[in-house]
Amino acid sequence: MKGKIKKIGVFTSGGDSPGMNAAIRSVVRSCAYMKIECMGIYRGYQGMIEGDFKPMDARSVNNIINKGGTILKSARCTDFHTKEGRQKAYDQLQAAGIDGLVVIGGDGSFTGALIFHKEFKVPIIGIPGTIDNDIFGTTYTLGFDTALNTVVEVIDKIRDTASSHNRLFFVEVMGRDVGHIALNAGVGAGAEEILIPEENLGLERLLDSLKRSKLSGKSSSIVVVAEGDKTGKNVFELKEYVEKHLPIYDCRVSVLGHMQRGGSPSCFDRVLASRMGVKAVEALIEGKTSLMVGIQDNKITLTPISKAIKGHTKIDKELLRVSDIMTV
Ligand code: ADP
Repeated sequence: MKGKIKKIGVFTSGGDSPGMNAAIRSVVRSCAYMKIECMGIYRGYQGMIEGDFKPMDARSVNNIINKGGTILKSARCTDFHTKEGRQKAYDQLQAAGIDGLVVIGGDGSFTGALIFHKEFKVPIIGIPGTIDNDIFGTTYTLGFDTALNTVVEVIDKIRDTASSHNRLFFVEVMGRDVGHIALNAGVGAGAEEILIPEENLGLERLLDSLKRSKLSGKSSSIVVVAEGDKTGKNVFELKEYVEKHLPIYDCRVSVLGHMQRGGSPSCFDRVLASRMGVKAVEALIEGKTSLMVGIQDNKITLTPISKAIKGHTKIDKELLRVSDIMTV
């Protein structure tokens, strides 16, 4: 597909995150501003295969900047893993006159996008929408900031009940491969210990730290545990282990789960989504493809999707040190 872009298709795919609607709004309004047609593609790659499209104009995205989830819906689509499925998707795009795509999603969605581009040459730009903040080429993904605020708010509430009963709470947060949510929300909520996939501090250290915390006179303790922590124990096993070895503690577990993905996006995520949407449309108009919009040093940047999906952003070691100092 060569020549000037005339009609952009926008879709959300994979795990949803707060700020996706703000990004859709930005893409749609940028198209309207730049006098390009815009189509909403429903249910990610599944909707692309089925031709589930709807024209979108500036007014069709009124009052969504503040809404969590995605008005275009999201889906996981096994058919897109096959050449036949992708051929159907291409045929549907051709029939609808869509000659450029903006995908809002995570690394799985980006992987699919790259394969699709290689096969059919449809220009495609990615916007990283995931609460895990695990995509290389951007300091922040859409939804991460909102998820942090949600987690901190909940831990504050858990702390109220924990301190009323002198309890120790293990709070499990999302993060199978990366500990960004656990580390940042843990520091923000004043957690006594933070267990993340990137570091295995060992169970002995955990016990020592909790013992010290109790002896120093703390009335409650919070341990934030990322799903993929490296202790080799899940959050319930950790609770049992600590209760067995430190009977001074009355322990409870709270698994936050999917609530971390919901809610009205923070101002930061809304602004980020607005900036990313504009850049995505501009990049397509300029003839670019296979790039992901990101933010680095507060500048909106473009990184090859091939690089973005290969690496994770690293956790901030300095923040780990800060966390240690705060729990003295
Ligand atoms: P996320 O984008 O949040 O990482 P997934 O990993 O579930 O979410 O990916 C979303 C969708 O992207 C999948 O359901 C599938 O349709 C498509 N996809 C992911 N990986 C591939 C792949 N290797 N080939 C083709 N399509 C893929």
